[in-house]
Amino acid sequence: MLIDGHGREVNYLRISVTERCNFRCQYCMPEKPFSWVPKENLLTFEELFLFVKVAIDGGVNKIRLTGGEPLLREDLDKFIAMINDYKPGLDLALTTNAFLLPEAAQRLKDAGLKRLNISLDSLKADVAAKIAGKNVLAQVFKGIDKALEVGLKVKINMVPLKGINDDEILAIMDYCRERNMKIRFIEYMENAHADQALKGMHGREILDKVKEKYTIKALGREGASPSFNYLIEETGYEFGLIDPHKHDFCENCNRIRLTAEGNLIPCLYFDEAMSIAESVKKGDIQGAADVLALVLKDKPKENRWTEEELEGKEVSKRAFYETGG
Ligand code: SAM
Ligand code: SF4
Repeated sequence: MLIDGHGREVNYLRISVTERCNFRCQYCMPEKPFSWVPKENLLTFEELFLFVKVAIDGGVNKIRLTGGEPLLREDLDKFIAMINDYKPGLDLALTTNAFLLPEAAQRLKDAGLKRLNISLDSLKADVAAKIAGKNVLAQVFKGIDKALEVGLKVKINMVPLKGINDDEILAIMDYCRERNMKIRFIEYMENAHADQALKGMHGREILDKVKEKYTIKALGREGASPSFNYLIEETGYEFGLIDPHKHDFCENCNRIRLTAEGNLIPCLYFDEAMSIAESVKKGDIQGAADVLALVLKDKPKENRWTEEELEGKEVSKRAFYETGG
C-alpha cells in the first residue's frame, strides 16, 4: 500500500502521455506553447511501463491516461494492452477530446480500456469552435457515438464559462442523460496558460442553473473522487460537480500524476515535481521506487484554489496540457 506524508492511501496514477494537442481550448492551451518538450525527451511506453509496474506493485489499482490529447500518441492501444495484461482487473481509463475516437475506439476497447471521460463543452458548433479553437463538434459527436457503440463506459466533462457556454448546462445534461452517460461539471481552474479574460462559473452558480428546472438532492462524494454527486429527483439522473475552489476533497486525495517526460507530480496545483526519467531509462526499478516514496512523503496537504487564496495572488503555473488535468 502507498501512503503519503499525511496518512492518505494513494492508489490512483494519472499518466499524461503527451502534452501535444489538436485543440487549443481557451482554458487550457489557447496558444501553441512557445516550445514543446522535444520528442526525444518523451519517455517511451516501455520506460513508462517500468514505472507503471512499480506503482501497481506498490498498490495502485486505478490508472488514467490523459494529456494533451492522448490519442495523438502512436501505439497508445499497445501501451493499454501492456498495462492490462500486467493487471487485468485494473481500473483503466482514458480522458480524451474524442476527435480521434471514431477511428480509435474499437482498438482501445480491444486493448483492454474500460472507461472514457470525454470533454464536451457545448452542443453548438460555433461555441465549441470558439472554445476549442477549431471546428470540432461534428467529429466529437461521432467519437462519442462510436465509444458507446463499441461498449465503452463514457462520462462527460464540461467546464462552464461565463458568457460562453453557461446557457448550455441543462441541455448538455439532457444530452448525457439520453445516452446514459454521467456528466461532471468542472469549475474552471485559473492557471497562467489559460486565456486570462475567462471567467469560470462557480459550483454554486452551476447548481443554481440546474435548480431552475429540477429539484436536486446532494448525495456526497464517490470515495476519493473530487466529484460531488447530486440526484435529480424528477428523473433519477445523477450528475457530478468538481469544485476545486473548495478543497474539502483534498483530505481524501488518492492520486499522483506522471508527465510524458517522467516528472512525478504530487498535486495538480503546485509546481513541485521529481523526475523518474533517469531511473526508468536505466531500468533501475529501485531508483524509480525511491523517487515515488519521496514524492509521496512530500505530497501537499491541499491545493490553493480557494477563493480567499486566489485573491490577489499569482495563479498556478501548472499547465493542464502537461499534467493531464
Ligand atoms: N485532451 C483531453 C481532454 O481535453 O479531455 C485530456 C486532457 S485535458 C487537460 C483533461 C481535462 O482537463 C479536460 O476535461 C479539460 O476540460 C480539463 N481542463 C483543462 N484545463 C482546465 C481548466 N483550466 N479548468 C478546469 N478544467 C480544465
Ligand atoms: Fe487539448 Fe484537452 Fe487541453 Fe483542450 S483541454 S487544449 S483538448 S489538452
